[in-house]
Amino acid sequence: MKYISTRGQAPELTFEEAMLTGLARDGGLYLPAEIPVMSQDEIAALAGLPYEEIAFRVMWPYVSGSFGEDEFKEIIARAYEGFGHDARAPLKQLNENHFLLELFQGPTLAFKDFAMQLIGQLFQVALKRRGDRVTIVGATSGDTGSAAIEAFRGLDAVDVFILYPHGRVSEVQRRQMTTPADSNVHALAVDGDFDDCQAALKDMFNDFDFRDGVKLAGVNSINFARVLAQIVYYFSAAVSLGAPHRKVSFTVPTGNFGDIFAGYLAKRMGLPIDRLVVATNQNDILHRCLSGEGYFKGDTIPSISPSMDIQVSSNFERALYYAYGEDGGAIAQLMDELKNGGFNVSQGAMEALRESFDSGRVSEDETLETIKHTLAHSAELVCPHTAVGIKVAEEHRDTGVPMITLATAHPAKFPAAVEKASGEHPPLPSRMSDLYERPERVTRIANDLGALEDHIKRHIAE
Ligand SMILES: *Cc1c(COP(=O)(O)O)cnc(C)c1O
Repeated sequence: MKYISTRGQAPELTFEEAMLTGLARDGGLYLPAEIPVMSQDEIAALAGLPYEEIAFRVMWPYVSGSFGEDEFKEIIARAYEGFGHDARAPLKQLNENHFLLELFQGPTLAFKDFAMQLIGQLFQVALKRRGDRVTIVGATSGDTGSAAIEAFRGLDAVDVFILYPHGRVSEVQRRQMTTPADSNVHALAVDGDFDDCQAALKDMFNDFDFRDGVKLAGVNSINFARVLAQIVYYFSAAVSLGAPHRKVSFTVPTGNFGDIFAGYLAKRMGLPIDRLVVATNQNDILHRCLSGEGYFKGDTIPSISPSMDIQVSSNFERALYYAYGEDGGAIAQLMDELKNGGFNVSQGAMEALRESFDSGRVSEDETLETIKHTLAHSAELVCPHTAVGIKVAEEHRDTGVPMITLATAHPAKFPAAVEKASGEHPPLPSRMSDLYERPERVTRIANDLGALEDHIKRHIAE
């Protein structure tokens, strides 16, 4: 499989090259040149298989040519062995027709472990074969950073630098990033918000001297390998509720549009997904856009679902690419307009987006109310991001089609909001119960490209 850029100007790459690169050199994002399609029989045959086997069958067409069959099976096995649940992504029932897909059984208690644990193993195998090393720099609103650090710590071919907005991540998230003792792990608390961190990361990738000098690699949700890993649980969940013989819908708490874009690819691969519902908090650029108001940046307002406090959704570019008929020139132009605040989406592209996506926005009060209501009516204590999803899902539920809401984090990752809403303190799983005792290690740094690049150059291993 070849990979192409959404902006049409970067060279075609193999899966391995696209994974090691992250962002394309024309500023675009990599996508497979063709989306592989699974037949109805192939999808039906997934029912009842272990998660790892489903993962292999769904992802194989995307990676073949870069990895061997047995090699890839071993990578998948290692990626998910540290999960706290044999089903990896268990499905729970909330009411007659509404289900929760629990994606927080991995080592850092959020769905990002599904992709990051896989990417860690893929990088290790690829770099070992090449005799190479890379510097991974990631920007995080909280969960990506901890998942990346957990996936890459201790690997000798990799240094990991994680930029997070100082004072804007939860204490559990911060401690998951600042307490690993491995010398290849570097947590950087940036004086700015998440969009500043993400912008600094993009600027580093566009500084080719720096990029080549430190062998920069990105594992943010722009990395196609991350999107790929997330396609799998749409299949595992849908077949366990009767797909391909029955349609299902998904509601996805969304920030950078990575998780829900994986659902879009699952649909294009042949999975009978009826609706894909985008759920946002008060940082609602995606909801405004899908409501026909154009794609215009607002100010990021901190919320109790901080992993979705995003006003520029980087993976939305991928959805726009398909909505604009795979026209890289049109996407490059829109992204130029975005630098000056935003753009209106053409009527044809809006119609294409609406064929797959619905959307809704949830206020802070509604989030708290939904946590309380879900505990009272379904005996589930949910994290604030998941609550945003549940609320929007209930508004979009169609009685004939099961709705699956993605439970993106464990409630113990966001204990203050969960306790405020429900009166219950969500305990950490026992394997992490000493998190509050471990010493922290972090560098506070200005929101300044020069300062960041300088720090990274001085701290990579020789
Ligand atoms: C990252 C994250 C999201 C948003 O996912 P995207 O792929 O950025 O849309 C939602 N919930 C939690 C808990 C997250 O960590």
